[in-house]
Amino acid sequence: MTAAPQPPPSSQPSLSPESTEFPDVPGSADEVLAGLDPEQREVATALRGPVCVLAGAGTGKTRAITHRIAYGVRAGVLQPASVLAVTFTNRAAGEMRGRLRQLGAPGVQARTFHSAALRQLQYFWPRAVGGELPRLLERKVQLVAEAAARTRVRLDRNELRDVTGELEWAKVTQTAPEDYAAAIAKTGRDAPRDPAEITGIYRGYEQLKRDRGVIDFEDVLLLTVGVLQDRPDIAEQVHRQYQHFVVDEYQDVSPLQQRLLELWLGGRDSLCVVGDASQTIYSFTGATPDHLLDFRVRHPEATVVKLVRDYRSTPQVVHLANGVLAQATGRAAAARLELVAQREAGPEPAFTEYADEPAEAEGTARHIRRLIDAGVAPSSIAVLYRINAQSEVYEQALADRSVPYQLRGAERFFERPEVREAGVKLRGAAVGGKNDAMLDEAGRDGDLAAQVRAVLGWSPEPPAGSGTVRDRWESLAALVRLAEDFGRARPGATLRDLVGELAERAAAQHAPTVEGVTLASLHAAKGLEWDAVFLVGLTEGMLPITYAKTPEQVEEERRLLYVGITRARVHLSLSWALSRSPGGRASRGPSRFLTGLRPGSGRGGGAGVVSQGGVERGGAERSAAARRRRRGPVRCRVCGRTLTDAGEIKLMRCEDCPSDMDEGVYERLRDWRAAQARQLGQPAYCVFTDKTLIAIAEAVPANEQELSVISGVGKRKLDRYGADVLDLCAGREPSGEPAEEP
Ligand code: ATP
Ligand code: MG
Repeated sequence: MTAAPQPPPSSQPSLSPESTEFPDVPGSADEVLAGLDPEQREVATALRGPVCVLAGAGTGKTRAITHRIAYGVRAGVLQPASVLAVTFTNRAAGEMRGRLRQLGAPGVQARTFHSAALRQLQYFWPRAVGGELPRLLERKVQLVAEAAARTRVRLDRNELRDVTGELEWAKVTQTAPEDYAAAIAKTGRDAPRDPAEITGIYRGYEQLKRDRGVIDFEDVLLLTVGVLQDRPDIAEQVHRQYQHFVVDEYQDVSPLQQRLLELWLGGRDSLCVVGDASQTIYSFTGATPDHLLDFRVRHPEATVVKLVRDYRSTPQVVHLANGVLAQATGRAAAARLELVAQREAGPEPAFTEYADEPAEAEGTARHIRRLIDAGVAPSSIAVLYRINAQSEVYEQALADRSVPYQLRGAERFFERPEVREAGVKLRGAAVGGKNDAMLDEAGRDGDLAAQVRAVLGWSPEPPAGSGTVRDRWESLAALVRLAEDFGRARPGATLRDLVGELAERAAAQHAPTVEGVTLASLHAAKGLEWDAVFLVGLTEGMLPITYAKTPEQVEEERRLLYVGITRARVHLSLSWALSRSPGGRASRGPSRFLTGLRPGSGRGGGAGVVSQGGVERGGAERSAAARRRRRGPVRCRVCGRTLTDAGEIKLMRCEDCPSDMDEGVYERLRDWRAAQARQLGQPAYCVFTDKTLIAIAEAVPANEQELSVISGVGKRKLDRYGADVLDLCAGREPSGEPAEEP
């Protein structure tokens, strides 16, 4: 088995602080345990028998299992080569290998189910079946189309992808073609076509694969299961090699993966699983938390450990996460554990309502720029959204502010195949290659978006269901919206102008990706953590997403929000926009999941009050955009130029216009700010940012009114710090009491 090549460890920068926690390899097995709390230590030292860890987000599950393996290896109880650690993604597996190396336990296999199975299958195929392992089918769609044609079912492109997704679901739930109709009736799934037709296509597809001598992604698991079931000699060899199994994110295991795990174990019980039923977010692919929740039933002798101490997030973030779970229903919710925060206090989560999506993206980017200017590393910041098509406005807003970013789990917007393909079509049409009556008509009307819709053949009616078809539709929808906005901003613009604009955007977004802000979908954010997390687009229709219809599907959407919130260590921002485009109808509302949690929506919750158009009341800073709207453009008070840069607006002058700052006042303000920050246990910029401090030292306000017009001095700051600041500006000792925790 060792003959198969080792994939290189993940080249992604690690997002977990853990990788920097032990710069030196611990000196002994006991030292490995030093970094764990008593319950985690119980997990790490329970090296025999089945172990199940049921715990909420950020409680150190992943940390406990890596330490468990390292402890076992260092204590000489586990042979490194006899351990197989299974995680959810290749990235997580790479990270786990890295952590194990740091803990002095290299040589342990950490893989995904798929990569572990593929490796075994490649190794045993010649003996089990003979010859080489059949070629792995990269894309199923073509074969599914052929199967459909043979069964005389006509599928359009979207249906084709949905049916393909359906076959994948059937395979990971180990549903044979003849059982498919009964299975979906039982689970209440929405079949994209008549179940009888899908059954026929499923059969045809399997036959075609056999005829062509290819296997698909799911077959890798199915065939490994088959080999291990049918060949006791091979099963025995695998059992000799692997004696101990550890599974992370066990709540999202599929029935097929579970079957494989059982075969790997072969009736033995050295299995340690960790998971959080409240983070089950892959049910739509056939995953289920039942295996986690029923572990005790299957293994009555198991050591079950519950972890509730949250080491990742501030009490403010934890409070909100608990609030989301308190409203959850269903089986996973019944098993929830209330998280107990361990970290020191931090800022309250901010809830912000924006007038429209561009304002939301702009506000978010501005906030991110502020954090970076205040010293937060871009790599410890993330913007998380529900679907990948939401990334484009954020890619652009960040690019506009020269903030580097990287996309996780998806290609950059302009690099997605459907977007590139659309670009080619639009370029073709722009140079006049297209001869289409509808296009001509749209062109005569000067309706750019209509032309784009015609060229792309895009219809406003979304395809049924989720998955790749939906993703593709959403990407094109984003492109059409871009055309609408562009057409509005530049009346009379032609298709050629639009193509030029798209090229510019693609180039601007092509910034280098190292050390950037992460843009990712909530699904791709699983298991990761950042100092600052921005959950954006939290409207009804996006979260829960419109196609989540059954109560179970809606609950899964709620869990997605929980996963998103619990990615944040310190700063958490939740936002939504009332309309899609500027000036549009405010037809949207905030996600129902925020009811009772966001201020002004019942039961009360976090602070950080919100308002429209990006104006954050209740002490947060007024946004530059809102100030502009109310008072017209902000001009440099030195040269009179209209300011557009957020930082310059804050300074109320151009960055390079001479400063008339009172250095003495500035020094006093800085010392005072440092003392306040220490008192609050928060970074200095949470009191006032550098730019605000400079603006105060330049303006030297004489009274509250003068102080209040300085950007960054909202009502709450004025109430808390106004008296102190005015004292300092007047050269007096601050008389105010030290600020208290909000
Ligand atoms: P998730 O459910 O999101 O996967 P998790 O339960 O796997 O979370 P980890 O990622 O292992 O949690 O840990 C969360 C954070 O808390 C990490 O930064 C980790 O280093 C830190 N942490 C965990 N346990 C401890 C501890 N005992 N002492 C200090 N820090 C800890
Ligand atoms: Mg984890």
